[in-house]
Amino acid sequence: MIVDLRSDTVTRPSAEMYKAMAEAPLGDDVLGDEPTVAKLEELAAEMVGKEAALFVPSGTMGNQIAMAVHCDRGDAVLIEEEAHMIYYEVGGPGIISNVVTWTLPSDKGIMDPAVVESHVLKRSLHTPGTSLLCLENTHNRGGGTIIPLATMAAYQDVAKRHGMKIHLDGARVFNAAVGLGVDVKEIASKVDTVNFCLSKGLRSPVGSLLCGPADFIEEARIWRKRLGGGMRQAGILAACGIVSLTQMVDRLADDHRRTRSLAQSLSELPGLTIDWDRVQTNMVLVGTETQANEWTERLHEKGVWCFPVAPKRLRLVLHADVDDHGVAYAVETFRALAGVAA
Ligand SMILES: *Cc1c(COP(=O)(O)O)cnc(C)c1O
Repeated sequence: MIVDLRSDTVTRPSAEMYKAMAEAPLGDDVLGDEPTVAKLEELAAEMVGKEAALFVPSGTMGNQIAMAVHCDRGDAVLIEEEAHMIYYEVGGPGIISNVVTWTLPSDKGIMDPAVVESHVLKRSLHTPGTSLLCLENTHNRGGGTIIPLATMAAYQDVAKRHGMKIHLDGARVFNAAVGLGVDVKEIASKVDTVNFCLSKGLRSPVGSLLCGPADFIEEARIWRKRLGGGMRQAGILAACGIVSLTQMVDRLADDHRRTRSLAQSLSELPGLTIDWDRVQTNMVLVGTETQANEWTERLHEKGVWCFPVAPKRLRLVLHADVDDHGVAYAVETFRALAGVAA
């Protein structure tokens, strides 16, 4: 048995998705007549409460396009110091948008709105103007942590006071909405633009949606072409995305339930600790007394796959392809390696 807890990106398409792929009406999206992509973009915009949406190949491309559209060269961007856009997008902000990223510390991915405000610069002969605030909800390196709605509203106030835009890297914003028990529109209403992934907990093989005002999306479409992200019969992929948005959102609650259950069982084992403050959605960060990579190697031999994210910390991510049996097997495996009889 293999229980793949490395990431929620590893999910395979569901049977409904294969069926949708086979049946989707197709066109050429670069020529502007792809009906299934158009349908997905409309549905996405409607769901997050924005005017328009753009289907992009990856979350990375959606985030980087957002920055390019929001900013002029030399602008300053405020962003959390462990954000995906800083940590895992290979210097995109410097290379693509030519901006100065002003990284701020946080508590579990949540920057203090007062600290954000204190770092806003006004454009002058000497200083760059701060034109964009980037947020991440849920926060990946924070362990899938949620930014509370009140904090989102506080960022919005700061941005309004200083004429700054807000882009949300909402790769897992549906996990945040399900975790908070609110409509995703409530979260998206606090920001100008949001990018979310279809290819994580929502189970699609490929794709993200960048959502925002119509004129923003028009310019984003040009940037997508410029970066080589124009896709032709992309309805094949968009068809899966429609299944994601219509059938896969509510099931995120199951991932969250299994995450808590896995965390609870692991917390009872010697040599492992759980940071409960961070168990909020579909990830568990597990502290290990011994080296984390020794754990991952031994777990891998038994078919339980996960990544170390620090010298003594493992990350486990729950998703649609790990059910209750998978969780039970993972717990059993950890228990055996911890030297505890079942
Ligand atoms: C996964 C992820 C992305 C985008 O990833 P891609 O692999 O480029 O689709 C962006 N932000 C966060 C927080 C993520 O977890």
